[in-house]
Amino acid sequence: MLKRSADENAPEKRVPEVRSAGTAPSCAVLLWLLCLVVLPKSAAWSQGAVVRQEAPFPAIVGEPATRGGRLSYEVLRGDFHLHTPHSDGAVSPTDRVIEAWEYGYDVIAITDHGSFRAYEEALPMAKALDLILLRGMETGLSGKEHLVTLGFSANYRPRDPHRWAEIPGQTQVFYQDELRSIAAAGGYVLYAHPHVGLREPVLWAIGQGLLQGIEVKNDVVGSGWNTVESHGTWWYPFAFDWAVEHDLALFADSDAHGTRGGTEQAVTLVVARERSPQGVMEALHAGRTVACFNGMLCSHEWVLRLLMTSLVDVRLTETAEGKAFLHLQNRGPLGLTAQIAGMPIEPLTLGAYQKMLVGLRRKPEMATVTWKNLYLRPTENLTTVHALTETGRSDQDNR
Ligand SMILES: [Zn+2]
Ligand SMILES: [Zn+2]
Repeated sequence: MLKRSADENAPEKRVPEVRSAGTAPSCAVLLWLLCLVVLPKSAAWSQGAVVRQEAPFPAIVGEPATRGGRLSYEVLRGDFHLHTPHSDGAVSPTDRVIEAWEYGYDVIAITDHGSFRAYEEALPMAKALDLILLRGMETGLSGKEHLVTLGFSANYRPRDPHRWAEIPGQTQVFYQDELRSIAAAGGYVLYAHPHVGLREPVLWAIGQGLLQGIEVKNDVVGSGWNTVESHGTWWYPFAFDWAVEHDLALFADSDAHGTRGGTEQAVTLVVARERSPQGVMEALHAGRTVACFNGMLCSHEWVLRLLMTSLVDVRLTETAEGKAFLHLQNRGPLGLTAQIAGMPIEPLTLGAYQKMLVGLRRKPEMATVTWKNLYLRPTENLTTVHALTETGRSDQDNR
């Protein structure tokens, strides 16, 4: 789930200027992060013990608010697409909650085909574990688009789930009418595993503001359902481009039907103003999500910049003898691969919670860093520019 796997970007051992300040605690953190990725995950609670593994993100103090000081955000781990026996899943609603808690998620939605009964069943355990649970359901057009809807009120009465008609006047509900019903119930809609492409119903829904998110990664579909093998995994890179072009929030979901298993899990990071169902829904509507899978973070440029304001620190450290070092710090649980402009070295992977010193031949005024596993587009990485001030504190610039 938190794996950083861009082996092609791994730093070479020949780099003498680099010293990692990995301390014992950070090594321990790394070790259990590794365990989080590779250990098989069975239904451990049936044997009496479940351990939650958390890897916190630093809080973000963002841009100034219009009034009342600066905004702050929490980064939450989400999975917004899950199944239980209320449709074709094999794990009960309560066990879904325990499993998500074990895997370090902060917010989930159970999204059975045509049913949201799992919500009421799962809610007591979610409350007991302080896990945010959203009401959810999977639905969509007949034989075509699968849509996940989240956060709608209990009053919503779904019509013809997965069997919406593409033209009006049919026996089944017309998709435009049902999308309006979901919106009237306060629901949020995202396009799940977008294997049938960007057809008129989805374009219409985007244009009306009735569809606001899209999965770029879905664990269950694997190499099927029109995914593309790229960046070392099977996913929907073309949906990433659509998200940028149509201003959709990006999602990476498990769509788990069985138990989660031991492989890396997709995560949708949510940059929320508060840790609550309302806070998560506000963040989804605002588009503050990051699709996190295969060691990559994919989102809109403005969301990644907001995340990076707290996630990294780049500063200058000087000795009395005049030696200068670039001092990099990763304050978060995800590996970050940095390529520093003007330095004849391979990209450096800054592990979870690591600090690193990079020797400099001269003292620069600025550092320009391209983050090789942060993507604004499938073919474009995020670049940050850091003014190296006299105090050593870096001020991240917007390019
Ligand atoms: Zn589906
Ligand atoms: Zn599904």
